[in-house]
Amino acid sequence: MISILCPCYNEEEVLPSFFERVISVMEEISEPFEILCVNDGSKDNTLQVLKAKADEDKRIKVIDLSRNFGKEAALTAALDYSSGDAVIPIDADLQDPPELIATMIQKWHEGYEVVLAHRTDRSSDSWLKRTTAKMFYRVHNFISTPRIPENVGDFRLMDRCVVDALGHLRETNRFMKGLFAWAGFRTCLIDYRREPRVSGTTKFSGWRLWKLAVEGITSFSTTPLTLWFYVGGVISSCAFLYGLYIFIRTLIQGVDVPGYASLVCLILFFGGLELLGIGILGEYVGRTYTESKRRPVYIVRDVYPE
Ligand code: UDP
Ligand code: MG
Repeated sequence: MISILCPCYNEEEVLPSFFERVISVMEEISEPFEILCVNDGSKDNTLQVLKAKADEDKRIKVIDLSRNFGKEAALTAALDYSSGDAVIPIDADLQDPPELIATMIQKWHEGYEVVLAHRTDRSSDSWLKRTTAKMFYRVHNFISTPRIPENVGDFRLMDRCVVDALGHLRETNRFMKGLFAWAGFRTCLIDYRREPRVSGTTKFSGWRLWKLAVEGITSFSTTPLTLWFYVGGVISSCAFLYGLYIFIRTLIQGVDVPGYASLVCLILFFGGLELLGIGILGEYVGRTYTESKRRPVYIVRDVYPE
């Protein structure tokens, strides 16, 4: 059986066309399937729409979370509740073309445990989103292991063995793309074109994307922490050489007053550097703190049907 996982947050507008397209694609493939929708604390009628669909079609199941936990948590819930031999997370807004599922399943039958959908054309995203995404992948892959494949979202096929492996990763700060990559397994890529959203609006504002990027980097790399050792080392060595120079110059030329400008510059520079370093420390300490509380990633209010 195939499990289609769909996190939904305020998606009442797109859900009818989502079900129509996904179900017609899945019926053509002629493999048994379930569609697992997670209502991530939507404020509109998403839950009502989902429940009505679930009553109509026994292959649709709904997990209702107690509030908005974010896409990563919603996806985790869907993975935990899925029972398929292969699972496919997909966005509700049809930006991930369901038609690709047939190819994914074909690759899966060929023996791949992970089939990634790779976005070749992201012109439906804004210029800013594309450039910042590119920068993020550069930085992340430079300092973190394992590398995450560029322009690959959550839309992918994963074999049951991958899902079971992911079930063991219970960290609270979750960056799913990183966790997926961390799990490994035999992987292949297939290309697709990213479509614009069918309707509704994006839930990922600039700030939320920034938080996600910080999440990704701090979850998989400690380079930002250790970097300060080297920065500090280089700056201290320069400061030492400069101090030596001043000392010798004072011995030779005597005391002089000028130097106010350079002094202020240095104070500001080092003040800024220290704050930056403390901020990065804070980011990691904060993460250790939330992790140490061992709170569940999400809370389920109800599951339909049942
Ligand atoms: N989503 C969610 N919880 C959230 C934010 C988003 O479950 O807190 C879901 C949303 O309903 C959609 C998917 O995550 O199915 C991707 O969101 P969106 O299309 O807004 O992101 P974008 O494609 O713009 O990056
Ligand atoms: Mg989208």
